[in-house]
Amino acid sequence: MSDESLFRFVDIPRQMPRRVPVKVRVMGHDEIYGDFLPDDAGEQAGRCIDCGNPYCEHACPLHNYIPDWLKLVQDGHLTAAAELMHQTNPLPEVCGRVCPQDRLCEGACTLEQGDFGAVTIGGIERWVTDQAIRQGWRPDLSRVRSIGRRVAVIGAGPAGLACADVLVRHGVEAHVFDRHEEIGGLLTFGIPPFKLDKHVIRQRRRVLEDMGVHFHLNTEIGIHRRFDDLLNDFDAVFLGTGAYRAIDGELPGRDLHGVHAALPFLIANVRRILHHQPLDPRFDVAGKRVVVLGGGDTGMDCVRTAIRLGASEVSCVYRRDEANMPGSRREVQNAREEGVNFLFHRQPLRIVGDTQVEGVDLVETKLVDDGSGRARPQNVLGSEKVLAADVVIIAFGFQVDPAEWMDQAGIEHLASGRTIAGGDGRLPHQTAHPRVFAGGDMVRGADLVVRAVLDGREAGHAMARMLRAELQAA
Ligand code: FAD
Ligand code: SF4
Repeated sequence: MSDESLFRFVDIPRQMPRRVPVKVRVMGHDEIYGDFLPDDAGEQAGRCIDCGNPYCEHACPLHNYIPDWLKLVQDGHLTAAAELMHQTNPLPEVCGRVCPQDRLCEGACTLEQGDFGAVTIGGIERWVTDQAIRQGWRPDLSRVRSIGRRVAVIGAGPAGLACADVLVRHGVEAHVFDRHEEIGGLLTFGIPPFKLDKHVIRQRRRVLEDMGVHFHLNTEIGIHRRFDDLLNDFDAVFLGTGAYRAIDGELPGRDLHGVHAALPFLIANVRRILHHQPLDPRFDVAGKRVVVLGGGDTGMDCVRTAIRLGASEVSCVYRRDEANMPGSRREVQNAREEGVNFLFHRQPLRIVGDTQVEGVDLVETKLVDDGSGRARPQNVLGSEKVLAADVVIIAFGFQVDPAEWMDQAGIEHLASGRTIAGGDGRLPHQTAHPRVFAGGDMVRGADLVVRAVLDGREAGHAMARMLRAELQAA
């Protein structure tokens, strides 16, 4: 590499795709980042110094071949870059949009460590895939031969989709079942459209269908189809059913009118947009003072949705400080710009009101080091104060709620509800039932899209290897 290209990062600053101005973006639910211009994407990719020890690649849970596809983008080889991206990730356009890159690939970029600003890895990943699919590119499966085996995938979230993608690439027929009317899991019915437009998932559905994946939607296993039947009809089953039991902190007053769990609030808004239907009136926050309890990704999505639905005032209450917030810093910054008021060092004690919520009783906290590695909030006695609210949304996170049919099939779980998969002499991601594999949030607990994708891919490879070995032994 010449000196000129090696030091390009000095002259060319890090640049994100353009953002819609705040005043415009809060008026609707469209994605807030626009497209790179083709020259900008190539220029930004050219900032990579190919440092020889790609920390970005190590920090990406999928170990994407980042410097290699950045070079292809820089040289203008769009479809080759898309093909390479898909070797490790079936959803690059999704991860490019929703991964907390500041904590993963971009946080580890050598340029970021040197204070030059990381290469915009996520933005480029998204741009390449969007463009390639728009231009008609599809994964090349022309050399794949059927091995005559069928697998049922329960859950069309990122774990299930990643598993199905790998299976069809191995010549295994993949049938994906989901209780919702659309694929995507939390990508569709959780993450709001201003972070991830729903057409992106519909477009990915078409790509997967073109690859041969079969979707059976509006089908809840345990209600519309028996799990036993799937075990009989298919050679193996992958479970990617997620983590959906909302943690409510057992807060007194949580049953008052106007108190909502985060996910029903977010889903009501997505359904309104997807099906062009009016908003469920329970979640109409227009002109109201909204308080969101919790400072994770879900909390950020709720505050920003409330702003767009016309709330008069939106506050986010978090018991630690900003530096200790669990979600992406980028999303906190976006929320602040959009007018969200942050109350740090506050612990909710109870929600107050008669039948309708009137406020939240908050106590101040200070952080103490208890040696656990993460500062623990301690209540400051006598600092209680009521924050007035018309609507309270609880966003404390989610736990896994194993279905009865899983227990009946002998699929083991921990006391926390998380499914036990892999380890103990089993194949990767194999559960206590030898023909059933599992991954994503139901195994890890509520986590990240990219790690659900990783699990689904690894499980898909393990299942395909198992089925091939059985064929050879037969
Ligand atoms: P899910 O995405 O939950 O998919 C599980 C699927 O299984 C669902 O479609 C469900 O309908 C289906 N299912 C369950 N039971 C059955 C059954 N019996 N029969 C048929 N179908 C069934 N992560 C990020 O990386 N970045 C973010 O910005 C981000 N934002 C988030 C925002 C919110 C509001 C939430 C809740 C989570 C967010 N996450 C984010 C986390 C991320 O969405 C999850 O970690 C990821 O979706 C988990 O994937 P999964 O495939 O394991 O489960
Ligand atoms: Fe970064 Fe996520 Fe893409 Fe990996 S998948 S390169 S962590 S944006």
